[in-house]
Amino acid sequence: MLVNKEMSNWGNFPLIRADFSEPSDRAAIKAFISDSEHLIPRGMGRCYGDSALQNHILSTLKLHCFLAFDENTGIISCQSGVTFDDILSVFVPRGWFLPVTPGTKFVTVGGALASDVHGKNHHTKGTFSDHVLSFQLITPDAKEVNCSREENELLFRLTCGGMGLTGLITTVTFKLQRIETAYIRQEQIKAKNLDEIISLFEESASYTYSMAWIDCLSKGKNMGRSIMMRGENATLAELDNGKRQNPLKTHQQGKLNVPFYFPSFMLNSLSVKIFNAFYYHKQWQKSVMSLVHYDPFYYPLDAIHNWNRIYGKNGFTQYQFVIPKENGRDGLEAIISYIGKRNMGSFLTVLKLFGNQPDNFLRFPMEGYTLAMDFKIQPKLWAFLDGMDEMVQKYGGRVYLTKDVRMRKDFLMQTYPQAKAFEQHYQSLNPDRKFSSLQSERIFKSDLI
Ligand SMILES: Cc1cc2nc3c(=O)[nH]c(=O)nc-3n(C[C@H](O)[C@H](O)[C@H](O)COP(=O)(O)OP(=O)(O)OC[C@H]3O[C@@H](n4cnc5c(N)ncnc54)[C@H](O)[C@@H]3O)c2cc1C
Repeated sequence: MLVNKEMSNWGNFPLIRADFSEPSDRAAIKAFISDSEHLIPRGMGRCYGDSALQNHILSTLKLHCFLAFDENTGIISCQSGVTFDDILSVFVPRGWFLPVTPGTKFVTVGGALASDVHGKNHHTKGTFSDHVLSFQLITPDAKEVNCSREENELLFRLTCGGMGLTGLITTVTFKLQRIETAYIRQEQIKAKNLDEIISLFEESASYTYSMAWIDCLSKGKNMGRSIMMRGENATLAELDNGKRQNPLKTHQQGKLNVPFYFPSFMLNSLSVKIFNAFYYHKQWQKSVMSLVHYDPFYYPLDAIHNWNRIYGKNGFTQYQFVIPKENGRDGLEAIISYIGKRNMGSFLTVLKLFGNQPDNFLRFPMEGYTLAMDFKIQPKLWAFLDGMDEMVQKYGGRVYLTKDVRMRKDFLMQTYPQAKAFEQHYQSLNPDRKFSSLQSERIFKSDLI
């Protein structure tokens, strides 16, 4: 059934009216594709900006069936609308976990592949597509195609990180990872400033998981103060007697909810400064070891439903960039001081050191430091982010498309070495731009007409 309704993604900006359909069978999918001049697939809408928005939106949430699982190898096949939440609920009790997961479990398998998401283990496990063996795609001309590294290899690579522009991913086959327990042996370490946190990342390269929360409004000798979280999957022998009763305990659904949009004035540079100071000082010791369940470790924000409403009705955006490791120290210092001078810091800014991974068309990670920050939508934001772009480009970096809502075409072309090649393939696959989003109309359209 087709519904015309207001739609936005996680940042609640932009808010548009769109024709929305949630088909459950091939015939209805193909009819929607052929009847729509321009359309984009959508999973859980957890991308922040306009990647999953268009005037026709095809939701995959009714494509939610598991198709096959091999207990010996961990190879799973499922429809693309199955969520990571569904997978964890079913497979953690059997001793299997996702190989790579973003900071929320409320994403679909199709959305994870289309954005080629990364997690806290990027430096050891790469991105989600590294664990995908094959998938099926309905292309803009309504053909159904199998894609893998052996079959339709180019389409395979274009679709991993291709932001839904190559067609609709309908099923995915990928490999889960074995776990002995549902717990992580975590070490939280305080770093007084940027030099300390950079050294900590360098010395944590052998840890499976690592990331840090960083206070982007701290200045002077405290600039870059952070708390690093690094960890390993815990073994059965490491659990205490209580946890050993149910070592493969799955997560519960969070009960907290933000029921309405906060008034926009509540979130300002003062409230961010107070929150950041509180967060940094709540840990007294230099280092704290603990055994934590995977849910708070990977998905701390999932505990509060609709937390995106704290940014108010006008919404917010996330700006995530990466700069090469060799420019990390200087680049981060320059960018953090740019943010601090303009009082534009965000809550819970996340810093991570990505591992080495070859470029693949629109894939985001490169070996280097990545910083993800949330900013509420306000008039001064756009000029501020233009300034951020200049600095990111100066230090050889780029910005993540799945968080983006305002990237310019020239910036994409200059910062992603294979963006031009992607655009050429996109043009020949999709001459009428049938699969297109508000984002692709901004970053690819002008040369096509
Ligand atoms: C709290 C939070 C934390 C996050 N943490 C991380 C993180 O640590 N690392 C990271 O990499 N990302 C992170 N993200 C971003 C998120 O993982 C990605 O945006 C992901 O793609 C969202 O999946 P989704 O199912 O909601 O897809 P949507 O948001 O619905 O769509 C995202 C893109 O995928 C395309 N798409 C969706 N389904 C299909 C399909 N079946 N076929 C073809 N294209 C499709 C859409 O067209 C769109 O371009 C985070 C997001 C949130 C809200």
